[in-house]
Amino acid sequence: PEAITVAELANRMAERVADVVKSLMQSGIMATQNQSIDADTAELIIEEFGHRVTRVSDADVEDVIKTADDKPEDLRPRPPVITIMGHVDHGKTSLLDRIRQANVTAGEAGGITQHIGAYQVQTKGGDILTFLDTPGHAAFTSMRSRGAQVTDIVVLVVAADDAVMPQTVEAINHAKAAGVPMIVAINKIDKPSANPTKVRTDLLQHEVVVEQMSGDVQDVEVSAHTGQGLDELLEAIALQAELLELKANPDRAAEGAVIEAQLDVGRGPVATVLVQNGTLKQGDIFVVGEQYGKVRALINDKGERVAEAGPSVPVEVLGLNGTPEAGDVLNVTSTEAQAREIAEYRAHAAKEKRAAAGAATTLEQLMKKA
Ligand code: GDP
Ligand code: MG
Repeated sequence: PEAITVAELANRMAERVADVVKSLMQSGIMATQNQSIDADTAELIIEEFGHRVTRVSDADVEDVIKTADDKPEDLRPRPPVITIMGHVDHGKTSLLDRIRQANVTAGEAGGITQHIGAYQVQTKGGDILTFLDTPGHAAFTSMRSRGAQVTDIVVLVVAADDAVMPQTVEAINHAKAAGVPMIVAINKIDKPSANPTKVRTDLLQHEVVVEQMSGDVQDVEVSAHTGQGLDELLEAIALQAELLELKANPDRAAEGAVIEAQLDVGRGPVATVLVQNGTLKQGDIFVVGEQYGKVRALINDKGERVAEAGPSVPVEVLGLNGTPEAGDVLNVTSTEAQAREIAEYRAHAAKEKRAAAGAATTLEQLMKKA
């Protein structure tokens, strides 16, 4: 069982240490502030002070948010989630925009899709693909460092007139470290100075062997400007996704990752969440990082209100008590008390960690001076 020092217990209850020591003494326990007491004793004291017993460890949190492993027969195919990476100015944004524009459905007013940080398109072959609208290595790295592995496939954009550059190499390393398969999009093929062969040979030096070089990494020549090769690129992604046999269980409590979040003047805290397993529904109670809430509304990438969102679907979530951070994991819980306790526990743990880091720095500075 868990143990806690008297000082820490007092701190968490926001009571004076001396009062806690006194209360322990009255129960026949002699303990100084730095001594540890067991969880049962702590619980007695907490009740004595008229407080509620809340989550006290990571294991407790795990107990609440962990769900049973999905049975194979409950798993259904889900769309792939794609991130576009590559060197600056090689055309990531242009490519994302072009894919989005070419695939907006007829019903959308003026073809303008609301920006929610991710969107879905349908290929000519009928496959649904989810694109994360966050090109850039910083987003990828920060998400991964927060424990969110959101990408199934990386599209590596390399400009045919520039070939492999430092951030191209960085992107290759990110994809390899994450164990995510890559598809090479050789962009700007419309330019007279385009040299796709140089791109392919450059990539060889980084152990990326494309199909044209008899390897197994798909490569497609594209132009974000003319639209050339875009259908082929989408089909290449769909093919890669098929090989991955991506599956999820839509019939369970949702789990997802925050793609982006902000405080909206009119609507309060809003988070774009990529549902990774289960189905998120209006009215669901959830904890997300150090925040919690109850789903007041879900809005899809077309700006429409939806009642629910299944695996690989990005949605805006309204009904948060605060603004979470990109990469935070969302879990649906059964009660609001659970969600709040976990959020509070995490916020407290994060605060302690920062304080400890601060103390360590101070100590280091003192040592340096001495
Ligand atoms: P990012 O930094 O990777 O997001 O690159 P951008 O999408 O901002 O593109 C950088 C520049 O390259 C812009 O001036 C684009 O207009 C241009 N560009 C992007 N794709 C193409 C393309 O396929 N052909 C040509 N000729 N120019 C392109
Ligand atoms: Mg860009």
